[in-house]
Amino acid sequence: MTERRIRVRFAPSPTGPLHMGGVRTALFNYLFARKNGGDFLLRIEDTDQTRYVPGAEEYIVESLKWCGLVPDEGPGFGGSYGPYRQSERKEMYAQYAQQLIDSGWAYYAFDTPEDLDRLRSEAETAGQVFSYSQHTRRSLCNSLSLSPEEVTERIESGASYAIRFKMPEELDVTGDDLIRGSVTFNTRELDDKVLFKSDGMPTYHLANVVDDHLMEISHVIRGEEWLPSMPLHILLYRAFGWEETRPQFAHLPLILKPQGKGKLSKRDGDKLGFPVFPLLWKDPETGDISRGYREDGYFSEAFINLIALLGWNPGTEQEIFSIKELSEIFSLDRVVKSGSRFDPEKAKWFNRSYLQQKTASELAEYFQPVLDSKGLTVAREQVVAIIDEIKDRCDFVADIWTNGYYFFEAPASYDEKTVAKRWKPETPAEMEAIAGVFESVEPWDATSIKEQFSTFMNEKGWNFGGVMNPLRLCLVGGNMGPDLFRICELLGKEEAIHRIRMAIEKIK
Ligand code: GLU
Repeated sequence: MTERRIRVRFAPSPTGPLHMGGVRTALFNYLFARKNGGDFLLRIEDTDQTRYVPGAEEYIVESLKWCGLVPDEGPGFGGSYGPYRQSERKEMYAQYAQQLIDSGWAYYAFDTPEDLDRLRSEAETAGQVFSYSQHTRRSLCNSLSLSPEEVTERIESGASYAIRFKMPEELDVTGDDLIRGSVTFNTRELDDKVLFKSDGMPTYHLANVVDDHLMEISHVIRGEEWLPSMPLHILLYRAFGWEETRPQFAHLPLILKPQGKGKLSKRDGDKLGFPVFPLLWKDPETGDISRGYREDGYFSEAFINLIALLGWNPGTEQEIFSIKELSEIFSLDRVVKSGSRFDPEKAKWFNRSYLQQKTASELAEYFQPVLDSKGLTVAREQVVAIIDEIKDRCDFVADIWTNGYYFFEAPASYDEKTVAKRWKPETPAEMEAIAGVFESVEPWDATSIKEQFSTFMNEKGWNFGGVMNPLRLCLVGGNMGPDLFRICELLGKEEAIHRIRMAIEKIK
């Protein structure tokens, strides 16, 4: 027997922005494919027209691209198993639903939405939950309860119907989940799911199984919320006679709230101030904005690294992994069963680690748009030198500005508290004297500036703190920043002297 080719798919429904849990599902599929020399597919599951959200598919594709998870096959990516959008495959599904009717695995259900609503609310009033199942199907309006003649008559007269799966009675269905091990469900608890809707569209269950079969998917790697669908899917493979090539299942654990209980939601992000989506999302209906990791300034490599470790671990202490490294070592047996808690502080730590790994000149490239947006033209050499000086205080590229804006702009005002504390009546004269000393410093580097400054201070017998603090105020507008003489050097002689004289003018 030739070995089966590894083919996995990420199969999102375009019902809104992709949650970071969805990105992790895509990532694990991608890594599994890369590790095993297989194919990674993107399939858009858009059969539920009522839940379709404009822009969601584009958002999914852009997110995958930003993360570097480019599909080998998918809508817009080529591949010989297409189309990869279920709405474009809709003609295909009816025959499979029919096949199940013919073999007795499915039946026609004529109950109207109103009938079902009524049954649901009656059950609710009685404190129960209505389910269309082996326990109720005989008393409902379907091809199992009606006579063959009545059924034919209804269909011929164009009555609308759904096709439901006829869940076998009292059967143990066991699935081997690659993460959870053997999981058994008894069909007694399972309802008769709709496979094909009256609008001519398949439901998720039918389309998903048919497509996984037709696209020769070898492994279904998806979120834990789909575990309850596994017995139905296993039975569908049995019903179609596809058990031989049925994919193996792996259900990934949930990503939990920072507090540990419950699934991480957008609300947690809003409350605690972190994104749960890869990219910024603007709701097309309400216009509400949800923040994204990209727009919040995360490097995509850091984002991928941090989600890789939510549910998977390498079995060592190593925490920093490139996607290439992950592709070499990823395996499903190091994915845990229990949910993993998301830690927003740790997420920042990952970004910081990636930022610290980058050279100042790489960071200058990332930082350039910030300068452009402020209309500032600064020589690249200068930008690199500044970043080198302040890099270790930064977690994000934006922090370069927050922690070092004064290198690029002369102070527009002076911190009042510092002025009150440090600016004495004798300060202006002292500052003017220092400006004079600076004029003759040669070469203009931190060591020479410090030397000549110190010689002068010692000659005068002035108190160092009494002069250095207001000098810093002149140069940066407050009491922040790295070593004073490095600041002088980085500003350049002319600018440093100019800022001193400007401060003498402005601070009263
Ligand atoms: N369309 C489903 C979703 O939105 C796919 C689940 C699966 O991978 O089978 O998650």
